[in-house]
Amino acid sequence: GATIGMLGAGQLGRMTAMAAARLGYRTHVYAPDAADSPAAQVSAAATVADWDDWAALERFARSVDAVTLEWENVPVATVEHLRRFTTVNPGPNVLAVAQDRVAEKSFVNGLGIGTAPWRAAHSAADVAAAVAAIGPRCVLKSTRLGYDGKGQARIDAATDSADAITAAWDSIKTDAAIVEGFVTFACEVSVIVARGGDGAMVAYPAVENRHKNGILDVTIAPARVAPDTAAEAERVARRIAEALDLVGVLAVEMFVTPDGSVLVNEMAPRPHNSGHWTMDACASCQFEQLVRAVCGLPLGSVERVADAEMTNLIGDDALAWPTLMADPGVRLHLYGKAEARPGRKMGHVNRLFPKTA
Ligand code: ATP
Ligand code: MG
Ligand code: MG
Repeated sequence: GATIGMLGAGQLGRMTAMAAARLGYRTHVYAPDAADSPAAQVSAAATVADWDDWAALERFARSVDAVTLEWENVPVATVEHLRRFTTVNPGPNVLAVAQDRVAEKSFVNGLGIGTAPWRAAHSAADVAAAVAAIGPRCVLKSTRLGYDGKGQARIDAATDSADAITAAWDSIKTDAAIVEGFVTFACEVSVIVARGGDGAMVAYPAVENRHKNGILDVTIAPARVAPDTAAEAERVARRIAEALDLVGVLAVEMFVTPDGSVLVNEMAPRPHNSGHWTMDACASCQFEQLVRAVCGLPLGSVERVADAEMTNLIGDDALAWPTLMADPGVRLHLYGKAEARPGRKMGHVNRLFPKTA
């Protein structure tokens, strides 16, 4: 049978490996932290090695039939190296855009798609100038490697002093940052698309995302937004995937403004937490779509067979698993992580409801 190479060893890799197994594929995980990882636990093989271990990367590439990834911050040089020996999707062009918030927003704006107003910043003085230009309420973010709201600071120049801007700058601990205008959104939505090497594309319906402490808390599928808003969100996600010539799965996070238009927040070229509901409520889930896309198989059906609500189990939330498991209305998914550290994604639950329109 064929083997998929997976870069990254977290829960997204785990659930992709499980979907791959169902289609008859083995998975070989490669990551510096692969040992006893969520993905390695369910994979046929795991390589624990650094992203710049060129010899280990070559052996890995030669042992698999196609490589994909569950973490968009895999160094581009790593992917370029692997590409000498096997196919890797999504490709380095996609990663270069998705790894850097400035590149990402430039790319999206270049397609004529709206984002919050933004400025690149390399110093506290740049931040002050950006705030003066954009408006008093801003979000300062490191351009690279942030997730779950880490590497971000809120700024309200109407009430904060110059010291507060300096404090925000010092708190993100990098000299490559972006200042974004704060969007007073009606809600947040995301759209996940899958695209094959032949350009075929499918999109799951727009879903609504609620965050708690900067971390995704609940996803409601489908999003409770106007049909025009949902259609616009889908159009935006498809346009981005096409412009990137994506092969794989792409999630696009968006803000819905009070007038019902959408602004892109960020994207992730991989299965996404806001797509976990598809595991129990769609004909083919996002993980299966990734396997299909990178293995050159036809894409699956995105038909929604039920409405759904996904709730993340963060840290100690997961201790409630016996109760959740005993509830027949709950589909429980646990990631095999031994330690329930605060803020750590331990699992999720899906609740299904009769399908609406
Ligand atoms: P993720 O875990 O989704 O990768 P992240 O750390 O990359 O998160 P963002 O998605 O940029 O960060 O921001 C996290 C959340 O913070 C957003 O979902 C949104 O709720 C809020 N937020 C971020 N940027 C803005 C903004 N410009 N205006 C208003 N809210 C924002
Ligand atoms: Mg992010
Ligand atoms: Mg986000």
